[in-house]
Amino acid sequence: MTPTRQDCSVLDAADPLAPLRGEFALPESTVYLDGNSLGVLPKATAARIAQVVQHEWGKGLIRSWNSAGWITLAARLGDKIAWLIGAGAGEVVVADSTSVNLYKVLKAAVTLGEPNPKRRFIVSERSNFPTDLYIADSVAREHGLTLKLVDADELATQLDDEVAIVLLTHVNYRTGRLLDMAAITAAAHAVGALVVWDLAHSAGAVPVDLKLANADFAVGCGYKYLNGGPGAPAFVWAHPRHTERMDHEQLRQPLSGWLGHRAPFEFTADYRPALGIQRFVCGTPPVLSMAALECGLDVFMQAERHGGMPALRRKSIALAALFIELVETRCVGHGLTLVTPREPALRGSQVSFAHANGFAAMQALIARGVIGDFRAGTADDTNQSSDLLRFGFTPLYTRFVDVWDAADHLHAVLETGEWREARFSQRAAVT
Ligand SMILES: *Cc1c(COP(=O)(O)O)cnc(C)c1O
Repeated sequence: MTPTRQDCSVLDAADPLAPLRGEFALPESTVYLDGNSLGVLPKATAARIAQVVQHEWGKGLIRSWNSAGWITLAARLGDKIAWLIGAGAGEVVVADSTSVNLYKVLKAAVTLGEPNPKRRFIVSERSNFPTDLYIADSVAREHGLTLKLVDADELATQLDDEVAIVLLTHVNYRTGRLLDMAAITAAAHAVGALVVWDLAHSAGAVPVDLKLANADFAVGCGYKYLNGGPGAPAFVWAHPRHTERMDHEQLRQPLSGWLGHRAPFEFTADYRPALGIQRFVCGTPPVLSMAALECGLDVFMQAERHGGMPALRRKSIALAALFIELVETRCVGHGLTLVTPREPALRGSQVSFAHANGFAAMQALIARGVIGDFRAGTADDTNQSSDLLRFGFTPLYTRFVDVWDAADHLHAVLETGEWREARFSQRAAVT
């Protein structure tokens, strides 16, 4: 029998993570299913930002670099992310954007080790997030390499000794498909390639174990599941075997700014990279944005008391499964096709449905207070050319009744045909 709203209330009452919803300033009468694009506002953030502005900046001024610990923010926030992604303390720094960090790690990876002219390719997935492909293409051009795009299912057959680097996003931004990090990393290593993982849709959403998978480099995003706020700084990780080698001067990232220097306050004319991951820092951290991100990360620390990442993953799978079941039973005949893997182990924390009028349907849904988003079909991706409705399920604050209400509104939008109203076809700059 299709679950009722009452069944969903029962699930919420039994949810060990339910208290965490109280940590967020969620707007009234809104079901927010877009935490995979921009996470929501933690209640602690506004006061924390005010404190940094008024006290640390206003009163402490330059002294706050030491007294308020601003100078160690990159490493401190990195440590608060490390445990979410299977990295050790001191192995992650927070800096710059995901795009910039991708540039840094790809350049570091390309120039690591002995040059080998035979390794001509950077391999990535055709439907990877565009910024990853654009940056990879730039790096490839700078080094006379070629960016080769393949379908995820072809990866196994496309890896050979001509591949220098494999760059993949762990959870696909369109389909929500989750790749097998350990198996792909092992296959790439078997042919002598290095592997860079983009965790933009994984960190805080699914358990990640970079060390267990033996990955080489990773980057990820602060403003999605980590709830760091719009434009929050991103993070970067390198396996310690790359940063702690005896000849560690070898691991060079191209943006050799002073805060990635071994001793920035010696103000020497020559660049010497800092030890460990700190060399991936370039310039001065955005202190206000860092403070906001820290509030987002601290909620995950609290989640530890309620079961941590395993509990978050269990709930995320349950929320998504409920949504799939409700939509598929209630919206039958309305042209929705599930593009997210049905098998829970193969998906991240989002569910996408293809629909011929996906844009207008999503706008109508948003007008009803159910916020997901829309991604247009890509012409060069034959398997995924359809327009998608995307729904992110963030287990920190999404309730089972929210899922029920979202499916109910989607059903109403399609059943009444209200999406046909002209106002729902007007496109803004950001979809
Ligand atoms: C969101 C996202 C990014 C974002 O990059 P920015 O530099 O922060 O704009 C990068 N890669 C992937 C896979 C993403 O999903």
